[in-house]
Amino acid sequence: MKRFKILLIFFLISDLAIINAQDDFETKLLNQFHKITSEEMMVWIEKLCSPEFNGRLTGTPEFIASAEWVAIKLKEWGVKPAGDEGDYFQWFDQPYTVVNDIGNLSLKITQSDGSVIIKNYNYPVEYYPGMNSGNGEVTAEVIYAGYGVSAPELNYDDYKGIDVKGKIVLVNRDVPYADTRNPEYKKWVGYCYHQYKLENAVKHGAAGFLYIDGASANPNILYAPSIIVCGIGTQPLSDIFAGLNTSNTELTTRIKKTFKPASFNTGKVMTIRANTTRHPEGKGCNVIGIIEGVDPKLKNEVIIIGGHLDAVGRAGKVVNGALDNASGVVDIMGAAKAMAQSGIQLKRSVMFLFFGGEENGLIGSRFYTQKPVFPKEKTITFINLDMVGNGTGLSVNASNPYKQLLTYFEEANSKYIHRQFRGSAPEPMEYYGRPRSDSFNFSSIGYRTMSIGTPGGYKRVFYHLPGDDPDAITIDIMEDVAKMIYVALTNMANDTTLTFK
Ligand SMILES: [Zn+2]
Repeated sequence: MKRFKILLIFFLISDLAIINAQDDFETKLLNQFHKITSEEMMVWIEKLCSPEFNGRLTGTPEFIASAEWVAIKLKEWGVKPAGDEGDYFQWFDQPYTVVNDIGNLSLKITQSDGSVIIKNYNYPVEYYPGMNSGNGEVTAEVIYAGYGVSAPELNYDDYKGIDVKGKIVLVNRDVPYADTRNPEYKKWVGYCYHQYKLENAVKHGAAGFLYIDGASANPNILYAPSIIVCGIGTQPLSDIFAGLNTSNTELTTRIKKTFKPASFNTGKVMTIRANTTRHPEGKGCNVIGIIEGVDPKLKNEVIIIGGHLDAVGRAGKVVNGALDNASGVVDIMGAAKAMAQSGIQLKRSVMFLFFGGEENGLIGSRFYTQKPVFPKEKTITFINLDMVGNGTGLSVNASNPYKQLLTYFEEANSKYIHRQFRGSAPEPMEYYGRPRSDSFNFSSIGYRTMSIGTPGGYKRVFYHLPGDDPDAITIDIMEDVAKMIYVALTNMANDTTLTFK
C-alpha cells in the first residue's frame, strides 16, 4: 500500500511536471508572440527601401550593404551564421549593369508633306530602359520578329526571310506554344527565356531590341555591349503598327494557330538611347542564419524558410521592392527574432535563408541547392516567401504527399491568429514552363517545398516599377504572417512524431 502511495505521488508529480512544462512552453511562446509588432516590422521595411540600398540590385555595393544589415540583425538576436566562412554569407559572381538615366525612345514620323516629326515616349508607362542594355544610341528601321525564336528542330524560325543586321528587332515574350502543362511544351521551354531571345537577336546582328514584355524593370536579361535594349508599352507598339492593316495581337494569334512565323519590315524608324555602365566584377550573396537544434539526433534535420532579399535596382528611377520582396524578408526576420529570443529550445534546426540574384534569374537559390548547408535528405521542408505583404488572409501551399506540413500553419492560425486561412495541397502538377520563383530550384530536385501567400490584396501592386514603396504594403497582415511562421516552425521543429519515409 505504502509503495502504491509513493507510486501515485510520483505519477502525480510527473503529471504536474508535464503540465508545468506545457504551461511554461505556452507562456514563453505567447510572450514572444506578442513582441512581434507591425511597428518594428515597418521600421525594417523602411530600412530595406531606403536610398542607402538603392533598390538592392544583386551585384551592387548597395545590395551587399543590405545583406550586411540583415546579417547584423541576425547576430544581434542570437541567430548563428551558416555561411561559407563562418560568417553569414554565401558568395557568388554576379555581374550587373547600372542604368544611369531613363534613356529615351522615339519614333520618326514622316508626314504627308514630307516633313518629319519626332515623337518621344514617356517613361515608365510607354517604355522602360533595358536593364542590361549596351550603352549608346541606335536609330534604325524596326523589324517585326514575332517571338524571336530560331528552332530548326521544331521547323520554326522567326528570323527566316528577314535581315535584321544593324536594325531594331521587335520581339514578344514567351513562345508560340502556350500550354505550359502539356509535355509538348518541354520542346519549347528553352526558347522562352529573355536571355535566349536577346542572344538570338545578337546572333542575327540586330543593333536594337524592343521587347513586348510590359514596360517594367527586368535585370534577368543577357548583357551584350553591341545591342541597345528597351521594353515597350502599348502606345509605341500601336504606333509601329499604324497604317499596316494588322496588329501584334492579330499576328501572335495567327502564329500560335499555324506555327508559321509572321516576320516583316515595318518601315518605321525608331531611336533607342541607353545610358548604362557595366560592372563585370559584381559579387552577389545569400545570407544564411541558423538556430541549431538541441536534440542530439534531430538537430541534424533542418527546416528552411527563405525569400529573396534582392530587388530590381534602379533603371532611371529606383524600384524599392517593398512588396517584392522586402515583405518576405521582413516576415522571416520577425519570425527569426522571435524564435531566437523565445527561450524555447528547438529540437530540430531552423535555417533562415535570404537569397540574392532572384531577379537576375533565380541565381542565389540555385547556388544554395548546389552548395547546401544541410543535405537535401535532412531538409524537412523549404518554405518560400515572395510578395507576402498585401492582403487580408493567409494561404499556405504544400504539394502532396507533404500535406501534414500544412497542419502546423493551420493550427497556428486557428489557435492564435484567426485570419481567413486557405491551406492547399494540390497533387503535384507537371509544369513545363519557365521557372518563376526560388521555390522551383528546390521543388524541381525533390525538396519538399511550400509557399506562403497573403490573398485578398487591396492595394495597387507596382510590380517591378517605381512605386513599390513601403506604403504599398499592408503591414498588419505581415505581422500575422510572421506570427504564424513563428508558432508553426517552433512546433514543427519540436514535433517528435514528424517523420518522412
Ligand atoms: Zn519577387
